[in-house]
Amino acid sequence: MELTLFVDHQCNLRCTYCYTGEKFTRAMSTDTMRRAVDLALQQPMAHLDVSFFGGEPLLHRDLVRETVAYAEHAVQALPGRQPTLRFLMNTNATLLDDDAADMMSGPRAWTVFVSLDGAREAHDRHRVHASGKGSFDDVMAGLGRLRARKIPFQLVGVISTTTAAYLGEAVRTLAPMGATKVILSANFRDEWTEESVETLRGALREAGAVWKELFRQGTALALEPLHTKILTHLKGGIPCPSRCLMGGSEFCVAPSGRIYPCAQMVGEDTADELVIGTLDTGLIPARITELQTAKDRVETICEPCAIRDRCQSHCGCRHVALSGRLGEITATLCEIESAYIDAADEVAEELFEEQCPTFIDYYYKKSWVPARGGVLTQLRRSRDD
Ligand code: SF4
Ligand code: SF4
Ligand code: SF4
Repeated sequence: MELTLFVDHQCNLRCTYCYTGEKFTRAMSTDTMRRAVDLALQQPMAHLDVSFFGGEPLLHRDLVRETVAYAEHAVQALPGRQPTLRFLMNTNATLLDDDAADMMSGPRAWTVFVSLDGAREAHDRHRVHASGKGSFDDVMAGLGRLRARKIPFQLVGVISTTTAAYLGEAVRTLAPMGATKVILSANFRDEWTEESVETLRGALREAGAVWKELFRQGTALALEPLHTKILTHLKGGIPCPSRCLMGGSEFCVAPSGRIYPCAQMVGEDTADELVIGTLDTGLIPARITELQTAKDRVETICEPCAIRDRCQSHCGCRHVALSGRLGEITATLCEIESAYIDAADEVAEELFEEQCPTFIDYYYKKSWVPARGGVLTQLRRSRDD
């Protein structure tokens, strides 16, 4: 179970592609946070991940501290088997000073997701302060503090039409930074033309070439989305239980107390059609079913598609980004997903063929849990399946 607290709509940056809408200050109150944690703890779960999102959550580190203390106390007070508790911070890292880093170090299980789009030029093109100044140097300073305290972090980069060409360079820049995972994902709100998708295809091949070299040099790095594309092949598709349940196994609470299926859908908190409850009403199962049904229209659209088991078409916030409506996608999704799959297969086929020891160890000897009914199979071209 994952509870996301959308701590504030305010942010200290003004990234040009920000999908969370206008910046305004509406901070989450302590009371809202407590009620959100209480609601989450009423759900059946073995783990509870409490994730901080915004806006920039580190604008409100007192609330973050209070949440940690409250959640730990509330979990301990539960009768019977207590869920394990983890904390996730989604941050632009520009406010990640010693105080913030100390807060996330120590015995508690924290993972920090840091937004970083690649090398300085690509990053500073979009991820800027209100003054227009790029934020690359500030992010580097924040990452240094995480590394010094051995706090695990993942790097999350946005691929825009204007930065797609720099993807190979992005992987080259991000790979040595010490992240446990590097996640690069396309901005589906961008206007992807035939030409920009072609640029992306070429850049994914270049990124794949950098990734292959890392494996050959003995470094196994989970590079998304290519990593998941290899796993979906090995596991025989994305298993239903791990498909997005639109609020079934995670939800996000806005400062207003309104509840959304996913943090990516909160925006300015005006999309009534995506709300699945409030802290006053609790989660409304009929709303969750309604949204799930709307989203699942995609299953019918995608039914005849050869790569449907490897495609992230089930992600509702991609539908919203592409078409503004759940259950409606556009050809952009197909083009970008098939580009991801082709790039992943090219890497996997080559490294499997040459029996690269790091690659084989990482994908075949680790205990990935196969999908229900799935088996780990030999890598083969998805196109030939
Ligand atoms: S750091 Fe995140 S919330 Fe802030 S402007 Fe950039 S994308 Fe938006
Ligand atoms: S590639 Fe397109 S049609 Fe195929 S599963 Fe993905 S979204 Fe659906
Ligand atoms: S809508 Fe997409 S990003 Fe959001 S929870 Fe579902 S799969 Fe994840």
